[in-house]
Amino acid sequence: MKINEKMYSLGSRRSIIREIFEYCKTRAAEIGADRVFDFSIGNPSVEPPREIAEAIARLIETESATLLHGYTSAQGDYSTRLAIAEDINSRFGTALSPDNLYMTCGAAASLTISLRALMNAGDECILFAPFFTEYRVFVENAGGVPVVSAPEAGSFQIDISDLAGKITERTKAVIVNSPNNPSGVVYTDKTLRALTDLLKEKEREYSHPIYLIADEPYRELVYGGASVPYLMNYYDDTLVCYSYSKALSLPGERIGYIAVSPKMQEGTEVYLAVCGAGRSLGYVCAPSLFQRVIRECIGAKVDIGAYEKNRDLLLNALTEYGFECVRPDGAFYLFVKSPEPDAYKFFERAKRREILVVPCDDFGTPGYVRIAYCVSRERIENSLPAFEALAREYGLKG
Ligand code: PLP
Repeated sequence: MKINEKMYSLGSRRSIIREIFEYCKTRAAEIGADRVFDFSIGNPSVEPPREIAEAIARLIETESATLLHGYTSAQGDYSTRLAIAEDINSRFGTALSPDNLYMTCGAAASLTISLRALMNAGDECILFAPFFTEYRVFVENAGGVPVVSAPEAGSFQIDISDLAGKITERTKAVIVNSPNNPSGVVYTDKTLRALTDLLKEKEREYSHPIYLIADEPYRELVYGGASVPYLMNYYDDTLVCYSYSKALSLPGERIGYIAVSPKMQEGTEVYLAVCGAGRSLGYVCAPSLFQRVIRECIGAKVDIGAYEKNRDLLLNALTEYGFECVRPDGAFYLFVKSPEPDAYKFFERAKRREILVVPCDDFGTPGYVRIAYCVSRERIENSLPAFEALAREYGLKG
């Protein structure tokens, strides 16, 4: 009997990000880690807040080990969901209850569960370019069809007129990611109002819900006072896919949640479908210890000052060398226009100088690369002469 071809091809061809990340590890073993300028992956470089280690120690000291390491409810520990609901309500004026929340193994699980809960075979899900590469995999795995909407030129905000042409009767969901991976762009209030007004209009036209999936792992990583509107307050049919991977520098602990808006049409059914999708995918009972750690650390924050300083250093230097960069107000990525049309050729030329960036063709934006600046300041400082030489090679600098 044959195995599943689709799964085989996903497993045998890693994502472009992982491919480059693995190359960096091999290269570092050959020439030394300090000589490889690895800007490939979004692994936080800032330590988790002190409260995390303290909460782990306290919980191990004070709680029963069988309870702490045991199964929780499939949808997550009640006291954790209550603490998260109260926190969101106090910050954004929502009316969430624990029964609107489902604890997950990070944003990837939040997205796969939500899509599985919503999509029927052939339903369309709109992705706004540039988008996180795995969205395609997640949508297709849920039986859906990804439809890409092009961004507004230059600003990389959502292009509402392009979107209007992409919504059809088959549109079941849209995925909004702000602050954005890979552009670092934070969608403005104006963009989000226009987006949600259009979605409301289309819901009325087609007489069925179009769900807005807000993928928000970078919500807390914003600079210079940029604000990230809470989409449930703009649009009732919203599910928020949250993760502590970046917000608390805990990507390896696999912890996050789905929040289903309490104002959603058929919200109870959608929440139950989320529980059903979690069950069918085997995503029940997110890591028990870390559910409790999150409960104990509501309000804890990482120090994002280091990311902001990295952003400024890299943005200013690369702009001075003549590269065309999109100014990022959030996340920890710099989105740079390739000096030649084929970003893979630029990638190869950068690689010869031991600079590893990610071509963004798979993010829906050929001709651009992503530089993950969640690295030590030293790595950025040491890489600058190589970036400058690369700019000269392209004749960017006078
Ligand atoms: N969504 C976006 C936009 C991301 O950038 C990532 C990870 O980099 C994820 C989802 C997955 O996050 P997690 O590690 O919480 O599963």
